[in-house]
Amino acid sequence: NDIPDVNNFTALAVWCQKNQINLVVVGPEIPLSEGIVEVMQEHGVLCFGPSSKAAEIESNKSFAKEFMIRHGIPTARYEIFTDCETACHHINTAPYRALVVKASGLAAGKGVVVAKNKIEACEAVRNMLNNGQFGDAGSTVVVEELLEGEEFSILCFSDGCHVKVMPPVQDNKRVGEGNVGANTGGMGAYCPCPQVSEEMVQFIKSEVLERAVRGLNLEGRTFKGILYAGVMVTKDGVKVLEFNCRFGDPECQVILPLLETDLFSIMMSCVKGHLNSIDLQWRQNSFSVAVVICSRGYPGVCEKGKIITGLENITSSDAVIFEAGTSYDSAASQKVTSGGRVLTVVATTKSLEKSNEKALDAAGKIVFEGAFYRRDIAKNGINFLER
Ligand code: ATP
Repeated sequence: NDIPDVNNFTALAVWCQKNQINLVVVGPEIPLSEGIVEVMQEHGVLCFGPSSKAAEIESNKSFAKEFMIRHGIPTARYEIFTDCETACHHINTAPYRALVVKASGLAAGKGVVVAKNKIEACEAVRNMLNNGQFGDAGSTVVVEELLEGEEFSILCFSDGCHVKVMPPVQDNKRVGEGNVGANTGGMGAYCPCPQVSEEMVQFIKSEVLERAVRGLNLEGRTFKGILYAGVMVTKDGVKVLEFNCRFGDPECQVILPLLETDLFSIMMSCVKGHLNSIDLQWRQNSFSVAVVICSRGYPGVCEKGKIITGLENITSSDAVIFEAGTSYDSAASQKVTSGGRVLTVVATTKSLEKSNEKALDAAGKIVFEGAFYRRDIAKNGINFLER
């Protein structure tokens, strides 16, 4: 309990030295973009994750778009603006539907507006550039072509040179069933996606992930850690929507139950630059489904402090539970809600349908006032298998 404030990287690095920590694994994007990896390295502490320069592939969308063009990585057409009038002129005259407006900096997953029409797109630009909606993160915007198609993500481990891909995953971002309503941090995911062929995975590996890792290396931004490509399969082929420089949740929660190789060894080999010496093993013919249980109001203002019951009715053979927005009310000796995405249940079996059923069964056993979750998380994959 002498652990320093995690935002004080120097104090944290000194603490790690003192306590002989073998490896620091950084989860979120903000400390990565603020240079935690460099500070750890300066203190001789091994740290899994990209440097701040490499993390710009996520934290600076205008950099990421220009980088993709420089290295021939397929992505939506776009322009970058700092002036509202010029951006609106582009929205009104572009030879494509320039309807997606993105704050260039980090905005906690809220900086993307997929507009219904040009008026709404101009409004989004005005909010970011003139009304300071996302502060500095929105002082530059990317105006992008609206794409249509199915989305999924391919993640890989990288040691700065080599790439090892993970099985494809599909996350469900919208709050409502049928993919409607507001964008969230993720309402659930499943892995692997049967609709993504091995050929497509290999295409993304070579045309997106390897190109990105090679390009970053060439530009003096060697990327060690997890590189995440969010892609859309359009009628003109695969296009990259975004890169993340880390695992996301719930993606992580469905990928890792399928990994048989020791995660610590993989991460160490990334940090030390010999990922190629490791052969990644995945559970064969297995599927994971994650269902996120949320508090009433999410992704807006949420209720908190609701008593959670039923966790004891779920055994490890039913599902694994990942807690996020929970805390312990010691006065009442009860576990209570403390956030929007309260917990995730993950089931892994030999069939996608069965995992889906088990995850939903487990979700149904967890009770708190105002709890809700989506029942259609693995629907696209199950429908594909039934075809
Ligand atoms: P995250 O929360 O995953 O970090 P983000 O804020 O970095 O997201 P993006 O992933 O770039 O933003 O976009 C969020 C969502 O907006 C995407 O998952 C996709 O559904 C939609 N989107 C983004 N770009 C486009 C596009 N060009 N055409 C259509 N939809 C898009």
